Amino acid sequence: MPAPGELIMIEPKRPKPPQHWSDLTVDDRKTKIVEFGLPAFRADQLSRQWFSRLSDDPLSWTDVPAELRQRVKDELFPDLITSVRELTCDAGATVKQVWKLFDGVMVESVLMRYSDRSTMCVSSQAGCGMNCPFCATGQAGLTRNLSTGEIVEQVLAGARSLARGDVEGGIGRVNNLVFMGMGEPMANYKNVIEAIRRLTQPAPAGFGMSARGITLSTVGLVPRMLQLAEEGIPVTLAVSLHAPDDELRDTLVPINTRFKVQEVLDAAWNYADVTGRRVSIEYAMIKDINDQAWRADLLGELLAGHLVHVNLIPLNPTPGSKWTASRPEDEREFVARLKDHGVAVTVRDTRGREIDGACGQLAAVVTSEA
Ligand code: SAH
Repeated sequence: MPAPGELIMIEPKRPKPPQHWSDLTVDDRKTKIVEFGLPAFRADQLSRQWFSRLSDDPLSWTDVPAELRQRVKDELFPDLITSVRELTCDAGATVKQVWKLFDGVMVESVLMRYSDRSTMCVSSQAGCGMNCPFCATGQAGLTRNLSTGEIVEQVLAGARSLARGDVEGGIGRVNNLVFMGMGEPMANYKNVIEAIRRLTQPAPAGFGMSARGITLSTVGLVPRMLQLAEEGIPVTLAVSLHAPDDELRDTLVPINTRFKVQEVLDAAWNYADVTGRRVSIEYAMIKDINDQAWRADLLGELLAGHLVHVNLIPLNPTPGSKWTASRPEDEREFVARLKDHGVAVTVRDTRGREIDGACGQLAAVVTSEA
């Protein structure tokens, strides 16, 4: 029997994605390379091709004897994700991809280009088991966890298109990464942490991005939040709170029936204490549901004095939803009340709205067309 806290981690039985170089530790890569009859030092060269030069064509790698290249591609660098739809908006500065995985499952990623940086938003699971009623991904349930390689690949795909200059604004690189696509990253903890390791390890082992540029967003799986604090990876932790009181949060974020608001916040403060990192509180502003002035005051009281920042997200209504984004005046009042409590607050910009940019909506559309 799994421990009660583990039950939320159970995923439907599905075939596993093919193993990929990105899934392997540095030592495992060396072992594989020796199995291929190549000297172990070639492993670092292959890693550099993949993570530093961002070459996705093993057939062109002169580090590998010509007769072995096809096998290296097929067995060590199989295609994990295939673009089935690319949509751009915001004058080309937002690029959304729908990816088909090896088993036909669809997930999404979004690349957002700003004047001084680029942010990738990636999926950690196909679907999601958390069942939040305002979220498009939550409606379809969990299909499966993504492998480390499938997560890393979404970031590298964005990095490649930025490096090629394919994205409006010229050549660029991925500065920030947010786990705010499909899925609950803490419910796929091991693969997500491994992906973060691959992405933050310096060359030749990994992609070499800064952990400080990475945000892991969670509904509040307390045991995993506590575990993350001990990993020694200084990512930003974002908590999808959406309500300051258990009564409402039980309905908006159903896992709240297991991990209550105060328990989740205590785990967040623990994270801030251990890492020195400011925690983000995500709060989708839903008209007449969670945007009352008294809830702003209650939220302000809970957060005041902590190393925290509130990100208000105007609700992006899902198809058929009776809920909409808050009125501007209610949003202003909410912001003002949080500020009165001395709590730092910003309102998220709404990139990608017209391409179903947020929250699993596009993959749902593409899947239903397929
Ligand atoms: N499962 C994780 C990460 C994925 S969602 C989590 O819940 O944190 C990333 C953020 O988008 C979360 O804060 C989520 O609550 C929010 N979100 C989901 N659907 C939304 C919608 N329709 N409008 C606005 N925000 C939404």
